[in-house]
Amino acid sequence: MQTTYDYILIGGGLAGQSLAFHLLQGPLRDKRIALIDLEPKTSNDRTWCFWEQTPGPFDDIVCQRWDQLDFLAHLFPGPSTLRPTPTK
Ligand SMILES: Cc1cc2nc3c(=O)[nH]c(=O)nc-3n(C[C@H](O)[C@H](O)[C@H](O)COP(=O)(O)OP(=O)(O)OC[C@H]3O[C@@H](n4cnc5c(N)ncnc54)[C@H](O)[C@@H]3O)c2cc1C
Repeated sequence: MQTTYDYILIGGGLAGQSLAFHLLQGPLRDKRIALIDLEPKTSNDRTWCFWEQTPGPFDDIVCQRWDQLDFLAHLFPGPSTLRPTPTK
């Protein structure tokens, strides 16, 4: 039996998963979408950081937040605040 899809996304990395996520939030949510990856993706092999001023859709899976960073350099030493845009 042949399965048909409205959209086929090749690659389930950041770009593919982001596109799938946003497709499922919008008017295309009822379309048949296939997400195909070369790898079985059984391990968490990379991380993604982002900056955000307001609560976002991925807050539940954020595992670390930083409000401050330190520069270890002669010309610009010391801490620097990341507020109001903390890194997640
Ligand atoms: C070890 C590591 C740590 C990182 N840490 C950070 C970090 O802390 N913060 C940050 O912002 N960014 C980080 N990055 C960068 C971030 O992961 C990349 O910028 C992001 O993943 C790029 O997204 P992408 O969708 O373009 O590619 P990818 O996420 O690499 O996704 C591409 C997908 O396509 C699949 N694929 C490839 N060829 C085929 C094919 N022929 N058929 C089907 N599927 C295929 C691959 O298996 C993969 O799943 C890190 C990257 C690595 C490697």
